[in-house]
Amino acid sequence: MDLQLLETMLADRGEPRFRARQVWAWAARGASGYEEMTNLPAELRAALTRELPFSSLHLREQLHAHDGTVKALFTTSDGRPLEAVLMRYRNPPGGGNPPGAGAGRRSICVSSQSGCPLTCTFCATGQMRFARNLTVSEIVEQALHFRRIEAIDHCVFMGMGEPMLNLDNVLAACERLPDIGITHRRTTISTVGWIPGIERLAECELPLRLALSLHAGEEALRSQLMPVNERYPLSDVLDACRAFYERKRRRVFVEYVMLAGVNDRYEQALTLAHALRGPREDAPPIFKVNLIPYNPTDSGDGAPFAGSSRESIAAFRAALESRGVPVTVRLTRGREIAAACGQLAAGQPGPRLGAAPA
Ligand code: SAH
Repeated sequence: MDLQLLETMLADRGEPRFRARQVWAWAARGASGYEEMTNLPAELRAALTRELPFSSLHLREQLHAHDGTVKALFTTSDGRPLEAVLMRYRNPPGGGNPPGAGAGRRSICVSSQSGCPLTCTFCATGQMRFARNLTVSEIVEQALHFRRIEAIDHCVFMGMGEPMLNLDNVLAACERLPDIGITHRRTTISTVGWIPGIERLAECELPLRLALSLHAGEEALRSQLMPVNERYPLSDVLDACRAFYERKRRRVFVEYVMLAGVNDRYEQALTLAHALRGPREDAPPIFKVNLIPYNPTDSGDGAPFAGSSRESIAAFRAALESRGVPVTVRLTRGREIAAACGQLAAGQPGPRLGAAPA
């Protein structure tokens, strides 16, 4: 629900202050309507049901992939599209999981804007029209939606939009996430490298994680892929991330989408390693690289990019590791429902619910 309106409405009715907290506590635990909130007077529940929509987001469509990934397409009350994804990971077999680890990690990927004003050339969201920043409630409601399905414990701001361009609302939404089950340490904000945002996050008290979408280890190529590099060049962005590390002592995740023949050559891995390691070879690594298999986005105009082969990804990984850079390769989730990163453009054609190939 719109949390601001809730407060106003309760105050106008002369309700005690703790009522807003009670309503929120129910919502954060996955209640699906006011009628479940049994510690509120029945008359108040009825008034809330009449006057305050339980969610300001309308669920338009929900797609399920065979790997358990769920993608939800919403519109805001003024008709702006946005998407969010739930990813389910199994605990590794063979035990060793902490007690209560349950079914394994449940991670949500949320949007911070409807559309995106940045124009990264390979990203589907970058190709659609920018609508507006999402409100705090619209961000929180994406999490609440999935919380109503099951318990969730990780959140990444890797859906639509650039979180650093809506940082007030993103941070206010982050303050609410622990009540829903997601601690700050399990919340990651991803950026194209918007330096003022990285600096603010470094100053912010919340122990949130930072991820940087890099995609190239050299200025010219990065400018081609991500025009924002003209404004905030790679070298300055990496310095801002180093300052973040100095302040927070938290490693920065680097996202690197693997594009065949564009950024996946051996020399490019060495250039990247050099850029990330910095001048001091013996320093502990500040960056951890996540290589992302590219998801073709069929933007309609004959997508100019193709994903790198498995072999090129493995070779790129080995080259980085040989230079002391920690690397993981991202599992691709929800590919058949176009739920993978960079594909969260509403209106993109995709198989309907249940029609996904095995
Ligand atoms: N604007 C922020 C938050 C969005 S994160 C940022 O760019 O970091 C979305 C991630 O998915 C980014 O790392 C983006 O580069 C990546 N991405 C975009 N299009 C993709 C595609 N087609 N395949 C795989 N990853 C993609």
